[in-house]
Amino acid sequence: MIAIAIAVARIGKLILIGPNTDRLALESHWEERGQDPSTMGNFIQYIECMHSEWKQTVHREIDAADCVLLYIAPKMEKFPLLKPAEVPSILEYYDAPFKKLSTGAGLLHEIAYLDCLGKIGNTVVICRERESNYVRELINANSLDLIFFTVTAGNSLRAGSPRLLAPDRQLARLQAAAGIVTFVGDDLDAPRSRFDRSLRPSVKVALRHRGTPKRVRRPSWQVLLGSSPTPRPLPPDNQLKIISHTKVEDLLHIPRGEIAEVPVEQAQSQLNRRAARKGCPTCGARIPKLFFYVDRLDIDPDDNIWAKCQNCMAGLLIEDRVLIEV
Ligand SMILES: [Zn+2]
Repeated sequence: MIAIAIAVARIGKLILIGPNTDRLALESHWEERGQDPSTMGNFIQYIECMHSEWKQTVHREIDAADCVLLYIAPKMEKFPLLKPAEVPSILEYYDAPFKKLSTGAGLLHEIAYLDCLGKIGNTVVICRERESNYVRELINANSLDLIFFTVTAGNSLRAGSPRLLAPDRQLARLQAAAGIVTFVGDDLDAPRSRFDRSLRPSVKVALRHRGTPKRVRRPSWQVLLGSSPTPRPLPPDNQLKIISHTKVEDLLHIPRGEIAEVPVEQAQSQLNRRAARKGCPTCGARIPKLFFYVDRLDIDPDDNIWAKCQNCMAGLLIEDRVLIEV
C-alpha cells in the first residue's frame, strides 16, 4: 500500500478503508520504512470503518474516487486451475460441476459495485506478474452472457471457460478496465521499479475516463443501497424496480426491465416440498440464494414468478410448483 501511495503521489492521494487495527499496522509500517510519521497523511487518507458500515462506505468512496485500484490475488496460496472444459456435447458442459471461486467472494462482489457505479473505466487492476496470465484469462475467457465453444481435432467441444459461479463471472466486467499492472517479488518496495513506472500511465488512463460521458445515466450511490417499497431506477438498465425485501448491495445480478421483488417466503409457498428442498435446479443453491420477482411493478397473484439465482446466475421460473430453468 505504501509503495502504491508513493508511486501515485504526484497524481493523487491513496484512500484506504479499513478497521482501526489496520491503520495502526500501516502507521508502524510507514515508520519502519524510514518515513517521517507526520507525513503519512500527505500520501494516504485512511478512512476507519466498522464491518457493519463497510458496504455503505465502499459505495460512497468508489463513487467519489477518480481512480480505483483493484488488487486481485488468490484467496488461498494459488489460484485454482482454469482448465477449459472439453466435452462431447454442450449438454454435458452444463452438467459439469462449477469451478471453485478464484478469489474472495467479497472482492468479486465489489466488481459488481464498480459496474453499478459506472467506475469500471476508472479501475486499474493490480496483480502479481506470475498470476497475470490467469487473471487475464479469467477476465477475457468468460462473458456474462455467452460461452464460446470450439470444435477440437477429436471432434469434441472445448468451452471458452469452465463453468463459473456468479461471483467469478463478475471478472468479465473488467474487460473495460483502464489497465492491468503487474509486479514481481520486491518490485513494490523498490522506488522507480517497473511496477512504479507502469502504474502511473494506467492511473492516468483511468483519470482521463472520468470526463467520459456515460451512456446510461447512473443513479446516485445512495439509491444502490438497502431495500425500499417504492420504485427506484436500478442497474443494469436503470429501469424502475421495486426491491423491497433484499438489500440491493447484496444482489450480484439484478434482472432487467421493470420488476417487483416477491418475498422468498411467498415464492417458497408456491413450490412443492421437493422443489423447495432442491433449491436452484442448476447449482443446488438454497432457496434464500434466489431472487424472486414478477416482471412488472405491481404484483398480481396470477403473475408468473421468476427467479435469478445469485450463486450461478441461472434464470428460473416457477411452473407447476417446481423451479425450471428458462
Ligand atoms: Zn444456481
